[in-house]
Amino acid sequence: MTKSLIIVESPTKAKTISRILPKEYEVLSSNGHVIDLPAKELAVDTEKGFTLKNMVIPGKRKILSQISKAAKDADRILLASDPDREGEAIAVMIVRHLKIPEEKVFRVLFHEITKKGILKAIENPGRPDELKFEAQQARRAIDRLVGYKVSPVLWKKIKRGISAGRVQSVALRFVCEREKEICAFSSEDYWLIFSHLEAGRPPVIKARLVSVGSKRVGGTKNRLSDESRALEIQAQLRKESHSITDVQVKKARRSPAPPFITSTLQQDAARKLRFTAKRTMMIAQQLYEGVALGKAGTTGLITYMRTDSLRVSDDAIEGARREIARVFGPDYLPKVPRAYRNRKGAQDAHEAIRPTNPELSPKTAAQYLDKDQARLYELIFKRFLASQMVDTILEKTRVSIQAGPFGLQVAGQVTVFKGFTALYEEGKDDETNGGPSLPPMKKGQELTLVDVEVEKKTTQPPPRFMEATLIKILEEKGIGRPSTYAATLDTIQKRNYVIKEQRRFFPTALGMGVNDYLVSKFPRLVNVSFTAEMEDQLDSIAGGDKTYIETLTEFYDPLEEEIDIALEDSETFIWGLTDKQCPKCQKPLQIKMSGKTGEFLACSGYPECKFTSNFERAPDCSIELVREKEVEERCPQCDSPMVLRQGRGGPFIGCVRYPECRGTLPLSTGVHCPEEGCGGELVVKRSRKGRTFYGCSSYPECKYALWDEPVSTPCPECGHGVMTRKVTRDGEFLVCPRKECKHRMQVDASD
Ligand SMILES: [Zn+2]
Ligand SMILES: [Zn+2]
Ligand SMILES: [Zn+2]
Ligand SMILES: [Zn+2]
Repeated sequence: MTKSLIIVESPTKAKTISRILPKEYEVLSSNGHVIDLPAKELAVDTEKGFTLKNMVIPGKRKILSQISKAAKDADRILLASDPDREGEAIAVMIVRHLKIPEEKVFRVLFHEITKKGILKAIENPGRPDELKFEAQQARRAIDRLVGYKVSPVLWKKIKRGISAGRVQSVALRFVCEREKEICAFSSEDYWLIFSHLEAGRPPVIKARLVSVGSKRVGGTKNRLSDESRALEIQAQLRKESHSITDVQVKKARRSPAPPFITSTLQQDAARKLRFTAKRTMMIAQQLYEGVALGKAGTTGLITYMRTDSLRVSDDAIEGARREIARVFGPDYLPKVPRAYRNRKGAQDAHEAIRPTNPELSPKTAAQYLDKDQARLYELIFKRFLASQMVDTILEKTRVSIQAGPFGLQVAGQVTVFKGFTALYEEGKDDETNGGPSLPPMKKGQELTLVDVEVEKKTTQPPPRFMEATLIKILEEKGIGRPSTYAATLDTIQKRNYVIKEQRRFFPTALGMGVNDYLVSKFPRLVNVSFTAEMEDQLDSIAGGDKTYIETLTEFYDPLEEEIDIALEDSETFIWGLTDKQCPKCQKPLQIKMSGKTGEFLACSGYPECKFTSNFERAPDCSIELVREKEVEERCPQCDSPMVLRQGRGGPFIGCVRYPECRGTLPLSTGVHCPEEGCGGELVVKRSRKGRTFYGCSSYPECKYALWDEPVSTPCPECGHGVMTRKVTRDGEFLVCPRKECKHRMQVDASD
C-alpha cells in the first residue's frame, strides 16, 4: 500500500479532502504561506540579481516540522495547494525548504474539491511548476520594491506612515481622475417634449419629439436647451393632429452572459447582493473548500474561485443540460452546448466558476449553508445554468409619428420567449430599459392627443466608481489579476486614500495628494498601459518567455532613478490646499488627515495659527466649513453654550469659550445603563492613559463601564440590556459584554 502525504494551505480544505479520501492519504494544512519575505526589511538584494531573502514565517516552524516528519514516512508527496500562482509558491517553497527528494514530489491541481475532482487530479499528477513560481516571486519582488522604496519618498514629501503600491496606485488614479472630471463638469439644463397619445387601446403611449422640420432634436448634439423654445413647441404641438407614418417590428435575440470568472462574480455580487469584493471572495472560498451536506458528506460546492477562464468541463455541461431539461423543458435547451471563448492570456487549464454539481439546486443546498453562502451559491448556480440555456427572443417595435412639422417616436419591447432570462439576468450598473409594451398600431392610424408634456432634464457628470465598476475598469485595462482585485479595493480604503459613501468611492484629500504626487514624480508607476504591460510580462515569466532577472532589471533601474530624483528635489509638495481662508489669520485653509478623526480643515499657518474646523464637500466639490454643532447643555464652569467637538480621543462636548474656558462635558451615547435600578446613561470617557471607554453617567454611584462602544440591542442569548460593537477583519460584530455569555453575532453589512 502506497502512503501519500497531501499538503494543502487551508485547514477546512484539509478536512474536506481527508473525509473524501481513504486513510492511506494523510492530509496536512500549512495554514497559508510558511515562507515569505520578512516584513521588517526590503529583503530584495538589488545589487545581486534581486535575490529574495525568503524566511520561515514566525510561528510556522512547528507546521514545517510536522510536514517534514510526515514526508519522511510517505512514499509520495502530493502538493495540492490552490491551483494558482500563490498556491504554486506555497508548494514549491515547502519542498525546497525541507529538501524533499524530487522524485517523491508531485503537484496536483484541485479545481474542485469533490470526490471526482480529487481522484481525477491524483490520477494525473504533475511536477511543481518552477516557472510559475518564478513569476510569483517576480511579482512579489516588484511589489516589494515599490512598497519599500517609494513609500519613504511619500513619507518625506506628503505624510509619515503612508504607502505606495503598484496596482493600487493605478486604481487610486482612476478614482481621482473621475473625481476631477466630476468637479470640472458644468451641468446644463435641457428639455424633452412628449406627446401622450391614445391609440384605441390602453396603455397611453408617450412619444418623444425627435425632429422639427428637417432638423433633428435630441441626442447629445441636438439637445433642446432653450426653455422658451420648448414651451413654444409644446403650444404648437397641442394644436397638431398626430398620425402614424411608420411601424417597424424587429425580432431581436439576446444571449446569456458567460459563466462567472473572478471579476464578473465580484461585480454581480456587488450589484445584486451588495457584497464587497473581499466578502465575495471570502464566501466563495468557503464554498470551494467544502461544506458538510448531511448524509451526502462533505464536499466543495463550487470550482476554484480565482480564475479568468471561461472553460467548462464536459461533465458539468452535461449536468447543466440535464437540469435545464428537467426544470424548464426541452425548449430551453440549445441543440448544441454553448462554448465560450477565453480572452487572450487567460489560463486555459482553469475552469469558470460554477457549481461542482449542477443538479444540486440552491434550495436544497441552502439547508446546509448560512445566509451569505446560500445567496452566493444561488447566484453562481443560476449564472452557470443560464449560460447553457437558449437565447431570449424579443420583439422590438418602433413607431414614427408626424404632427404637422414635428416628428415623434416611441419604442416598445415585448418578450416573445424568455429563454435564459427565465432563470437569470446579469445586473446592470445603470438603468436602461428596452421600453414598455405598446398597444397594437398600424401605419396611417390617427392618434388622439391627451397632453403634451415638457420635461426638464439636467446633464449629469460621469458617476463615481462603485465596487463593480471599478473592478470592471481594472479588468478591462488589464490591471491586476483574479487574485488581486479584492485586495486592491480593500487597500486603497484601508490607507484612507478613498472612502466609500453610499457604495461610491470618493478620494480623500490625502488620496488626491498622493495621486498628484505620483503622477508628477513617478509617471510610469501610475501609467495604465505600463502597469498592464507589467502584468503581461509577469505572466510571460510563467510561460518561459522572459526571465526573472530581465523583468526586474528592466523595471527597477528606471524606478531607482526616479526615486533618487524625487528624494533630491528640495521643493515642498503641498497637498489638500483649499480656496477657503482661515477666519483667524486669512491664510489659506488646508485639508489634513488624522488617523482617528479622518479629514479636517486646518490653517496652513500652523503652528503659528491653530485654527481647525470640520468641513463638508458640496456636490460641485467646493468646501464648506461646518460650524461646530451647538448642544443643549451649558458649560459647568462658566455657564456658556457648549458645542460638539472632535478630540483626539473621540467626540466630546466643550465650552464655546475654549481656549479661555476649558469646561467639558462627557458625550452621551444615548444608551441607557443596563445596571438594574440605575437611571444613568452610558457616556464617552477617557481613561487616565488616554484610552476611550464608556462609563455610566451616575458614576461614582454606578461603576458600570465598557471598553467597546455600546449599542442598545439586548443580548438575544442572555437578555443583557446592551451589546458592544466590535469591528474585526471578518466584519462587524455585536458582542455581549457579559463574561459569562460573550454571545457574538455578525452585523449584516448589506443593511
Ligand atoms: Zn489661521
Ligand atoms: Zn466655559
Ligand atoms: Zn449605571
Ligand atoms: Zn449575553
